[in-house]
Formats: sequence, structure tokens, C-alpha cells
Amino acid sequence: MYKAIGYAAHTNTSPLVPFNFERRDLTPNDIQIEILYCGVCHSDIHQVRNEWGGSTFPMVPGHEIVGKVSQIGSAVTGFKIGDSVGVGCLVDACGECADCNEHLEQYCNQAVFTYNSYDKHTGGSNYGGYSNSVVVNQAFVLKVSDKLDLAAAAPLLCAGITTYSPLMHWQVGKGDKVGVVGLGGLGHMAVKFAHALGAYVVMFTTTPGKAEDAKRLGADAVVVSKNPEEMMPHLASFDFILNTVAAPHNLDAYTALLKRDGTLCLVGVPDHPHPSPAVGQLIFKRRRIVGSLIGGLKETQEMLDFCAEHNITSDIEIIPIQQVNEAYERVLKSDVKYRFVIDMASLL
Ligand code: NAP
Ligand code: ZN
Repeated sequence: MYKAIGYAAHTNTSPLVPFNFERRDLTPNDIQIEILYCGVCHSDIHQVRNEWGGSTFPMVPGHEIVGKVSQIGSAVTGFKIGDSVGVGCLVDACGECADCNEHLEQYCNQAVFTYNSYDKHTGGSNYGGYSNSVVVNQAFVLKVSDKLDLAAAAPLLCAGITTYSPLMHWQVGKGDKVGVVGLGGLGHMAVKFAHALGAYVVMFTTTPGKAEDAKRLGADAVVVSKNPEEMMPHLASFDFILNTVAAPHNLDAYTALLKRDGTLCLVGVPDHPHPSPAVGQLIFKRRRIVGSLIGGLKETQEMLDFCAEHNITSDIEIIPIQQVNEAYERVLKSDVKYRFVIDMASLL
């Protein structure tokens, strides 16, 4: 074991504070990473506040990790000290089930998430990326191109793959009309990807002041979702809508906008269920409501390579770790432009 430092929440109602803890020694397949940046995902807030249940404390959140390889185990291949690397939401899986065999480790029943998950190495909960250092099995470490700004690349590890994966799975491309609901961390990446894939992109926001930014990020049109007169012209016209909202809300307003056979994909994970869908609205046009969870390792690497090729990163606000509690409050007020990223140099 070796000493690490970070920020942790000790209960679901207390702020994050400095925290000393230990990381495991490297096994032959492990890579030690000096963490340079870590994004602040709304999932961190849900878990710190125990909004999904099952949170364990102390909790060091953080699953949008970018850093440099600082040490490698004896069996590590393809990585060397000094390489720029990333770690997202996953750090282990069984490696043998149908999901793992199809490179969909996120759906493996034994998937181990980056924090607040059982760690077989220590027998307790693992700790995430709001920290100076982490040890991860090489199979769960991603390569990050040095063409990308490393701080702005950090959110790709969760917000990026969570929006890229459903756009790929439901084959969004040229000629499609695509909606994105909620302009936050996930939503702004969804707009960038859908635009890069050639779709006609409509941003649905509750914050009229974000309209200009939405257009700059790649939206062709912006709809303020609380104005029915702005929603009406889009009835039954969308191929695909990606809903990133973190709070329960009426989904019927969005299913009504889908064409026959259109798909509403939910990626936001609210603490309470959405009001139930108007079933007739689904049946009469064979519409679908689906969900999607992050992405597997292979697809995450493909997404990072796509970003390097198309020069796509996140729009970020860099903060010292001492401001993380204020950043949480701003995320909760939808006042994030469009991802907070912690500069880990501020820890020292
Ligand atoms: P975020 O940065 O807070 O963005 C969410 C956006 O939703 C807000 O900026 C706001 O945008 C809009 N919004 C907020 N409250 C709303 C409400 N009551 N009604 C309608 N719109 C509202 O959050 P995020 O980090 O992108 O995460 C979004 C959700 O995805 C969270 O629940 C998170 O846990 C989840 N998530 C899921 C996965 C997965 O694998 N499925 C992965 C990562 C995160 P406007 O101001 O534009 O309205
Ligand atoms: Zn996340």
C-alpha cells in the first residue's frame, strides 16, 4: 500500500474535505497513474448525496480521470511511464460473460465502478479520481492523444462515452433529426457528437440564456422546453432524442416529438422515477423509450480516437479542488459551462 491524498465526503450531508488514504501496491497487470485532472460528473453528486441508495463513506468521487503513467507492473504492455492516459467509470469486470465478450463490460454483472464499488484488492469500497494518484488494471486504462488538451479531455471519459455510445448504437448520422435534452456536461458533448456525425441537431433547454452557446456547440435549432409553442412545431418529427436530464420530469413531451419508430434514449439517472409514459403515444407510432449506460472499453478508446481526429473536447471550467463543493451547488442550479474539471495540482 502507498499513501494517497484526495477529497472525500464522510456522510451524505457533509461537504467534501481533504482526505488521506492508501492505494494498493501494483500487481503485475497494474498501472499507477499520476492524476492531473478529474471532471465533476452529476453522478458524483448523486452518489455523494446518496440519491441512488447504497453509497459508502468515506467516498472519494471522480470517474473522469486523466493523467500520466507513473509506474507499470511487470506484465504491462503497450503503456510506458509518462504516457497520457485516462480512466473512466469502469476499473474491472469478469472478462468471461456474454457482455464482456462483446466488449460491453459496463453491463457485466461483476463490473467494478471506479469508486463506491467493492474492491477485491482491499475488501472495502474503492476510491475515485478526486485524488493525486490511482492504480488500475491495464485493461481498463485508455490512451489519450497528446493532440488533445488534457484537462478538456477528462470529461470524455464519462460525459463523452455516455453520449457517443447511444449515438453509435442507434446509428445516428446524416439526414437524421436528433434532439438533445439538457445542456450540461453530457448534453454539450451530445450536441458536439451529433453535429460531427452530420445530424440536424435540436437542443432542448430549460435555460433560455444557453441558446447562443448551444448553437456555437453545434445545435441547428434551440427550443426552450417549457414553451409549448416552441415544442409544437416539432411534433412527430425526430428520429432520435437523447435525454440527459438528472431530475424526474414528464417524458411525454418528448415521446410526442418522435416520428413513427423514433427512439427516446434516457441517460440521465434521476433519484425518483419519471411520471409514467402515455402508452398510447408509444403504441400508435411504435415509438421506443430506451436507456444506455456509459460504454465499454473498446468503444471508449474509439471515442477518444474519434475526438483526436475531429479535435473534439469538452468545454470546461477548471477549478482548484478547494472549490469542489461550490461547483456541486452550481451544477445543481444548471449553472455549469459545461463541465467543471479539477486541476489536481491544487491538492499539493
Ligand atoms: P448536468 O451537467 O447537471 O446537466 C444536466 C442538465 O439538465 C442541466 O444543465 C439542465 O440543462 C438540465 N436540467 C436540470 N434540471 C432539469 C429539470 N428539472 N428539468 C429539465 N432539465 C433539467 O448533469 P450531467 O453530468 O450531464 O449528468 C446528467 C445525468 O446523467 C445525471 O443524472 C447523471 O447521473 C447521469 N449520467 C448517466 C450516465 C449513464 O451512463 N447513463 C453517465 C453519466 C451521467 P438546461 O439548463 O439546458 O435545461
Ligand atoms: Zn459520470
